Amino acid sequence: MEKVISTCIYCGCGCGLLLHVDGGRIVGASPSLTHPMSRGSLCIKGWLAADFVGHPDRLRSPLIRQGDLLIKSTWDEALALTAASLRSIQKEFGPQALGILTSAKGTNEENYLLMKMARVALGTNNVDHVARLCHAPTVAALGFALGSGAMTGSISSLQSSDAILVVGSNTTEQHPLVASYILRARSRGAKLIVVDPRKTRLAELADLWLSPRQGTDVAWINCLLNIIVKQDLADMQFIKERTYGFVETLHTASAYTAEKAEEISGIPAADLVKAASIFGLAGRGAIVYAMGVTQHFRGTDIVQALANLALVTGNVGRVGTGVYPLRGHQNVQGACDMGALPNVLSGYQQVSSPQVRAKFAEAWGGQLPCEPGLTALEMLWAAESGSLKGLIIVGENPVLSYPHTSRVQKALNELEFLAVCDIFPTETTALADVVLPAACFAEKNGTFTSTERRVQRIRKAVDPPGEARAEMEWICDLTRRLGAIAEYSSPGDVMDEIASLTPIYGGISYERLGPEGLQWPCPTKDHPGTGILHASSFPHGRARLRPVLYLDPPETPDADYPFMLTTGRSMYHFHTGTMTRRTSLLDREVPTPFVEINPEDARLMDIRDGTKVRVETRRGSVSVEARLAEGVSKGDLFLPFHFSEAPANALTAQCLDPVSKIAELKVSAARLKKEAP
Ligand code: SF4
Repeated sequence: MEKVISTCIYCGCGCGLLLHVDGGRIVGASPSLTHPMSRGSLCIKGWLAADFVGHPDRLRSPLIRQGDLLIKSTWDEALALTAASLRSIQKEFGPQALGILTSAKGTNEENYLLMKMARVALGTNNVDHVARLCHAPTVAALGFALGSGAMTGSISSLQSSDAILVVGSNTTEQHPLVASYILRARSRGAKLIVVDPRKTRLAELADLWLSPRQGTDVAWINCLLNIIVKQDLADMQFIKERTYGFVETLHTASAYTAEKAEEISGIPAADLVKAASIFGLAGRGAIVYAMGVTQHFRGTDIVQALANLALVTGNVGRVGTGVYPLRGHQNVQGACDMGALPNVLSGYQQVSSPQVRAKFAEAWGGQLPCEPGLTALEMLWAAESGSLKGLIIVGENPVLSYPHTSRVQKALNELEFLAVCDIFPTETTALADVVLPAACFAEKNGTFTSTERRVQRIRKAVDPPGEARAEMEWICDLTRRLGAIAEYSSPGDVMDEIASLTPIYGGISYERLGPEGLQWPCPTKDHPGTGILHASSFPHGRARLRPVLYLDPPETPDADYPFMLTTGRSMYHFHTGTMTRRTSLLDREVPTPFVEINPEDARLMDIRDGTKVRVETRRGSVSVEARLAEGVSKGDLFLPFHFSEAPANALTAQCLDPVSKIAELKVSAARLKKEAP
């Protein structure tokens, strides 16, 4: 049996694993003992990461729509039709009528090649991916505040913290390996504060659990900052020497007294004072957060408020300190790094900069568009209104994963041409004109970048099924058919080009990426990589504090919709369940959709475990089983979003964060009705 070193396909922890290959088939996966972060551990999804690879549902050949049917075709037919359709739309309506949604599950090299195709072959900056719906506020807010929209420390650094503030993250379930480092710190005496409306497993283990009303984070974070300064616990030397904007930020935060913050958030004032003391007194404080923070219509403000708190306490740039956004997909960090975003090229180099465009144009040949493009949701709404005509979607299932399912379906149906590349049939491939079968992570070479900025390799262990191809092959083929240059001998060749154009990846090459990978910034070939960012300076000199004001969430419970609905993940599934629902042991644990409800609320409505209920919001409704959960606060409902038969995103609100354009996915007024048994 051969063991091939690779990287887990699921969450952003980026654990190292070994794929076990026997007779050309994957027969299992096990942890890599030498991986610097996971160190011989995997969570249940990691152990089962390869189970879906040989599933009989895999897409095996390209498909072309004929009427209501998708008919088997050759690659040449599928790519010829795709190129002709895109060219025709480009000619008639201009490049802005085209767009690409790339994949946070794809490799860095694929994301780079797709954003290159968008810019140099299609002539548009309309390129984006699912980061828009998870950590776009992180990219925007940390980019502004710290000069880099990424995790400032390394995951292992958490074990050296004296106090860890975990916000909006069910870490033990969604990023279990990060949780293991938090718990190591906890066991050596670090204080743990968990802020989450739900009493998660980590909240049960915390020194202090704060349960705010949904959507009130800015109020309580400003309050902590205010108390810390008033109690003389701020790091005034750090503030003076390394930040701008303290006076204005404190002025705004001063309005959020403990009493005021209690009134808004529901967190008792005494607990807010206690949390401020714990965090303010810690020599090394770390802030860990996930999508409970970012998926809000003011997500950028909430992340900025957390960055303000870290900066005012001097908790950036040292081991055990820092701001730790936990990325959901295994390569959402890399897809952002590669410039699969409408306003930046690889390494966050602005498309609006003539110097940057000239550099890329010289390397790629041709001209680059200068106006920032449309974000993911803006592309869909442009399709709905008829101004976007052609779209390529790679490795995403927006029908299920984007807000407002029926509107997304309508938008995709309005397109003149839709090509979708994936490994399995999905709700989105069902709407495509052309379907391209992809290789999965075990069937190709490439790199992923984990949430701690660690660039690491995946390696081909087995062949893709049938006619399925590594995406790099068809992306380059299609780019050439569209008239641009895309000649690479291997993914390593693509990485060499990425390094030559992207300063933060400048020293990275396949030859240097051993089992440990390298953490960016890694600017030169002899640079060891960077575990801790901002140790002595920030990219723009000093960090920027910015005042943030609390605004009420767009919906609050009322007589018609008395519950507050929030959405999220189950430990046993990932995203839209494309892979985990085809992994028998995971699917067996959670085979059907459910909504969690506080037992007291359930009793008042005569609802028991397993009662069929209908969850309704002003956008739609789904039918699911009720689950009584002590951890869910009274008046709240929790609905996982993995299930096509009960799409949570059919219920969520549509308003967008004005800066990052993320949708409000965590706060919706809802009601519950019992269904006939
Ligand atoms: Fe995979 Fe994340 Fe689990 Fe690690 S923690 S094994 S990366 S799902």
